[in-house]
Amino acid sequence: MSGNNEYHGGVECLRCGTCCLADMVACASVEDVELWKRAGRDDILHIIDNERAVWMGDHLVSAIDGRELHHCPFLEWVNGCCSCTIYDVRPRVCAEYRPGSSQICPQFKK
Ligand code: SF4
Ligand code: SF4
Repeated sequence: MSGNNEYHGGVECLRCGTCCLADMVACASVEDVELWKRAGRDDILHIIDNERAVWMGDHLVSAIDGRELHHCPFLEWVNGCCSCTIYDVRPRVCAEYRPGSSQICPQFKK
């Protein structure tokens, strides 16, 4: 998610949350984990440790209990718009995602 109705190259994030429906826990990098350790974000690390998302071909499941994971655990909805609860320290894969850069985004233009 770009978030906060940011513009990137003239493309606005609509805060629809679609790009956060994948479980970003599976995409967190070693560098992200190091950032959260330095920032003392044990709340995030706790979720990372406990979700253990595994890609099963076309969906993610928890390696702990087999439950299907439908969206990032840090995604919340406020007045119909998505919001990232860890926006300031969100993973690099999220920070670098640009609105309209892939077909899952409603701002994607062919
Ligand atoms: S899919 Fe596009 S419009 Fe929707 S939240 Fe993500 S970047 Fe924003
Ligand atoms: S960490 Fe934030 S920006 Fe990244 S997928 Fe989760 S809710 Fe979206």
